[in-house]
Amino acid sequence: MKNLLRQKIRSKLKNYRVALNTPNETQPLKLSTPKRVAVIGGGLAGISAASNLAERGFEVTLYEKDNFLGGKAGAWTFESHGETLNVEHGFHAFFRQYYNLRTFMKKVGAFENLIPIDDYLILLEDGNSLGFKDLEPTPGLNVLDLRKRGVFNFLTLISPFSMPFLHLLRYDREKTFKQFDNENFEQYARRTFMPKRMRLVFNSFARAFFSEPEKMSMAELIKGFHFYFLSNEDGLLYDVLNDDFQHSFIDHCERHMAAHGVTIKKNKPVTDIVRKPQGFTVDGELHNYVVLCTDVKHIRPLINNSPTLQQYSSFNKSVVGLKPSDRYAVLRIWTDKYEQQPDLPFFIFTDRLKALDSITLYHKMEKTSAAWSAKHNGGIFELHSYALPADLKDDEAIKQTLMEEFFHYFPELKGLQIRHEFFQHRHDFPAFHTGLYNSRPTINTEIAGLYLAGDWVKMDNPTMLMEAAYTSGSLAANAIMQKEGLRENLLESVPLKGIFA
Ligand SMILES: Cc1cc2nc3c(=O)[nH]c(=O)nc-3n(C[C@H](O)[C@H](O)[C@H](O)COP(=O)(O)OP(=O)(O)OC[C@H]3O[C@@H](n4cnc5c(N)ncnc54)[C@H](O)[C@@H]3O)c2cc1C
Repeated sequence: MKNLLRQKIRSKLKNYRVALNTPNETQPLKLSTPKRVAVIGGGLAGISAASNLAERGFEVTLYEKDNFLGGKAGAWTFESHGETLNVEHGFHAFFRQYYNLRTFMKKVGAFENLIPIDDYLILLEDGNSLGFKDLEPTPGLNVLDLRKRGVFNFLTLISPFSMPFLHLLRYDREKTFKQFDNENFEQYARRTFMPKRMRLVFNSFARAFFSEPEKMSMAELIKGFHFYFLSNEDGLLYDVLNDDFQHSFIDHCERHMAAHGVTIKKNKPVTDIVRKPQGFTVDGELHNYVVLCTDVKHIRPLINNSPTLQQYSSFNKSVVGLKPSDRYAVLRIWTDKYEQQPDLPFFIFTDRLKALDSITLYHKMEKTSAAWSAKHNGGIFELHSYALPADLKDDEAIKQTLMEEFFHYFPELKGLQIRHEFFQHRHDFPAFHTGLYNSRPTINTEIAGLYLAGDWVKMDNPTMLMEAAYTSGSLAANAIMQKEGLRENLLESVPLKGIFA
């Protein structure tokens, strides 16, 4: 009976993988007349746009303000007490339904650096934990299986107040955003009498989008739940890179782009774009197209400083509407002790007390970190707060709070010595708060030849974070190829609608 149901769900959800477009096989692949493209921002969206266009013969210049590529998936080194250490923007999970990003990672040779994580684990305040390993993989049935983990109980299933939970299984972009974009998760949870454990799971889920529950758009959360849990058989299990991002991923992208002739300009912040009859001037050079792939924090000053773009009122209105989410913090510490619990996965969510949302055990996960740990007999931990409380502003106070909460979950490590630390307190993650959907900009803009890409851009397909960034860059590249009469690249997605939509 269950097998039949599994088959039916698989068929209803189109084998969990759908094509986003149908490339026209009769169109040429390569450009025959030279065209120049400026890609501004070297995060995953920019890398995607630059790579896809350069492969087809476009002359691409990639401008990046920092001295490394990758943006939020970037890595760099720093000196501390005579050692050169690697650090990243923060731990990243590569989910199996990141179809387009994973295809690209295969192409550039980075895919083999992915290793699976054992469990999606939440450590609870009372010392217990909630794991998602060995959960029924079929979407829909996996939700019922959550009952065994105490996420909800039998009463939830029969209670009339639970009816709204069906909306989680009914993702449909237009309807879901119309109905839920103005409701936040906190309001939804209260209205539906959401059980405590279920709330906890959703709270950590909302925070993975860098948002407090009372700000997070319920529509974005339903989209996220569809994308991560209810549209594929891989559920919440994922892979991670086995070494620092620069070596295991970004170097591969740079080599690929260089091989296809991309001019990569690092340390090159673009300060203005000038619209010309023939195209756009960026950094004194004329380009036929621009793909704007900055983060939300940096797009507005760039547009404000570009008078020739200001006459486009709907473009400007949508850009002005973009805003960063709450402040977040990432503290990486190199210590003289580590936990003695071999069964723990590399990455753990915590039931936040005040600030700490997750702990990564780098000494277990990355090769370079494991080598440091073996040499120094110490650990490398990364502590994240995805949405800092408003009253926690001072760097020292944030670090102290994160450490106190770390010791709450690992009391045996109290008294450890920190040998090195790297602290980031940032405010550049896109907000997925209530009421932002309608004005969110799309890839195509009213300015002919100018496209937008990034994890913050509105797309028809349900996707988020790194997969959203990569896919948006590829969609922008496809739009330019279409303009030039070239064959688009095939892009894929999880099914666009939920099981009961
Ligand atoms: C701590 C943390 C943990 C995360 N964990 C995960 C995870 O587990 N899984 C997941 O899928 N995603 C995760 N994410 C999200 C993921 O990193 C992002 O969604 C993705 O990397 C965004 O890529 P992007 O290209 O859209 O933007 P960005 O990476 O922000 O890239 C924008 C680039 O534009 C550059 N730029 C800005 N202005 C200019 C200018 N004027 N001129 C030139 N360059 C400019 C910036 O320097 C930057 O390199 C995490 C993010 C953070 C911060």
